[in-house]
Amino acid sequence: MQIYFNPSYNPAYKRSPISFTSKDVILLIGAPNSGKGTFGRIISEKLSIPYIGSGNVIREETKKGNHFQEQAQKLIERFGVVPKYTQMVKLFLIETIKKQIAEPAYKKGFVLEGFPRSIKEAEQLKEVLKAHKDAKLKVIHLEVDKPILYERCAKRYICEDCYRTYSIDGKPQRCKCGGKLIKREDDTPEILSRRIEKYEKETLPLLKYYGDKVIDIEVHDKNTPISETFEKIIDKL
Ligand SMILES: [Zn+2]
Repeated sequence: MQIYFNPSYNPAYKRSPISFTSKDVILLIGAPNSGKGTFGRIISEKLSIPYIGSGNVIREETKKGNHFQEQAQKLIERFGVVPKYTQMVKLFLIETIKKQIAEPAYKKGFVLEGFPRSIKEAEQLKEVLKAHKDAKLKVIHLEVDKPILYERCAKRYICEDCYRTYSIDGKPQRCKCGGKLIKREDDTPEILSRRIEKYEKETLPLLKYYGDKVIDIEVHDKNTPISETFEKIIDKL
């Protein structure tokens, strides 16, 4: 079993200390499977600031039986992705972000992953952040070569309980939290190619939108260790 994506296997994860500006709001932008969730979690744990993974917020709600469960389930079956793009879910997500960042723990900054995914959403986030005084945006753009995205898709498993992702050759074992590792419904090459297309069309324009707030992190080699990429991110933060 090979694990690339588990932060606990990452030597850089123990690196310390890191100085960063308090009230940094760190956004992660990247194609599906670029490692946004993984790095979002590592940055959050390393900087001791909260992490909001938008896909996880939705999955969690769906699991809890939120009123949009039925509609969401239908969209997942039909399109294979967590339907963030529906208005209903988006509104819920924005409300959740708003509510969460009002908590004291968020005052010193936080990591937000999977939102915004379009200029329109970026405008909505800007509104929400007005309540978060002195917030300083930093946008990490993970640029990973396409063949790597497809390879990760084939190997990826997600924990049913805590949503950590793992890259696995062969039979999946258990998550470090004890949860069962399963394939995500949207981890097929067909769905991935549709998601990449959507990403390029709707999300990539955000790089221009955020301008000099963007920190580019490139990954061209599939064997690049997480620790190396993480070092790069921390250096540029
Ligand atoms: Zn788990």
